[in-house]
Amino acid sequence: MDQEQFTSPRRPVGAWGLPCLEEDDDMARQAPIPVCPHCGTPLQAFTLPDNTGWQEAVQWACFNDDCPYYRDGWEWMWSHYRVRSSYRYRLVNREKNIAQPLAVWSPSALRDRIVAAAGTGNGDPGGT
Ligand SMILES: [Zn+2]
Repeated sequence: MDQEQFTSPRRPVGAWGLPCLEEDDDMARQAPIPVCPHCGTPLQAFTLPDNTGWQEAVQWACFNDDCPYYRDGWEWMWSHYRVRSSYRYRLVNREKNIAQPLAVWSPSALRDRIVAAAGTGNGDPGGT
């Protein structure tokens, strides 16, 4: 008996010969600065001490002292653990959007590790 065979649709051969567009690494450089979902403040890049176990050398965190996440963190840590510390919103990996709280023991903790954004001509609002 005859069986009809399925014929695969004809593909234009030339379509597969297109060169692959390589991703321009300018995209990474021009990626928008992530903002804190709790207060909307642009996150700041900071470097980690060597022995923290993170493979990301630079992470991003919200260093806004008025951030509700950070402000409520003091109370939360105290009521749960009787610990005088808090945490800030942190983006461990900006590309993969991995966020984890960053434990801080004082408002100035880790501030000395903030990396100044390079190449931006924005004036800092840091008055003396
Ligand atoms: Zn924030």
